[in-house]
Amino acid sequence: MFIIAKAKGSVKGMIRENKINLTKNKNMLKEKINEFYLSNQKDRTQNRFFISDAGKCHRQIFYSFKNAPKKPIEPNFLRLFDLGNHVHQMIMRSLLNIKGIRVVAAEINIPPHGIISGRADAILSVDKEFYVLDIKSMNSRAFGYLNEAKEDNVLQLRLYLYYFKINKGILLYMNKDDLRLKEFIVDSDTKQVEKLLGELNVLREQIDSNTLPSRLSDYPKNWRCRYCNFSSACKAIHK
Ligand code: SF4
Repeated sequence: MFIIAKAKGSVKGMIRENKINLTKNKNMLKEKINEFYLSNQKDRTQNRFFISDAGKCHRQIFYSFKNAPKKPIEPNFLRLFDLGNHVHQMIMRSLLNIKGIRVVAAEINIPPHGIISGRADAILSVDKEFYVLDIKSMNSRAFGYLNEAKEDNVLQLRLYLYYFKINKGILLYMNKDDLRLKEFIVDSDTKQVEKLLGELNVLREQIDSNTLPSRLSDYPKNWRCRYCNFSSACKAIHK
């Protein structure tokens, strides 16, 4: 009798204790996971252009080179990047096992070049034709509106086509919420790429001479300004 009573008391005590602990530590994992993502964040000063800079605001890239103060990236965005990497792996696993598709190379750096660096997801051979593959992931809302490849993505893929001397590329988009796919074939466009490289050369000179590029012509309405990590620095200088 005594033992049962003691046990009951002990269980109640444990429940009471656990309730307190659960209340106290209800964000224990969330905080630790957030810390993990924040501490693994690569926050190096930029010293060369990346393919992903194609289509970006030049002032934003300038700030990145100058390591200007910026809004920290929230842990949920860092997890989204991580999820994007898993999406890539999932797609590549299927491509490697599909008859008729040859993965010629995966995660391949563009040939060394002075001004820009980048890594393509894959080069594929389908029906004896080569394609550069670029995999993107997005949420349902953006995916629903996607009737054609996004302009910046096309430009980035064309840079890969230019450096790999391949005529066609594929932009493959995955909806992160329901894993549906959409794809778009992109043709190379040497003129457009050379124009972009010319603009990047001008930007490089501005960076080297500490000349701040102008804001986007439709600042602050442009969607890029809404998501820009350097918006405070940009707002502070009226130019
Ligand atoms: S706020 Fe807009 S104009 Fe200013 S740096 Fe950012 S993207 Fe460019």
